[in-house]
Amino acid sequence: MADVTSKSETIEVVPASKPGKWYEIRKGADDVIYCSCVAWAMSKKNPKVCKHLRAFLDKNPEIENALVIEGGRYVLPRR
Ligand SMILES: [Zn+2]
Repeated sequence: MADVTSKSETIEVVPASKPGKWYEIRKGADDVIYCSCVAWAMSKKNPKVCKHLRAFLDKNPEIENALVIEGGRYVLPRR
């Protein structure tokens, strides 16, 4: 049986500071909320964050409130 909840999905596409470039705020198959930019991948913060993800969470406080921090990353708990 297919498990649709384990699919990775794009939540929001955000413009990069460089014109014509875009990054994606995504929910991974492991429910980690992450950004496709290098800054997120290289982030040493706990949880990992970049300016795109920060701006996204500032705009969507109800999502931020639902998140938990697991393994140094933001994770959306399964309902
Ligand atoms: Zn980013």
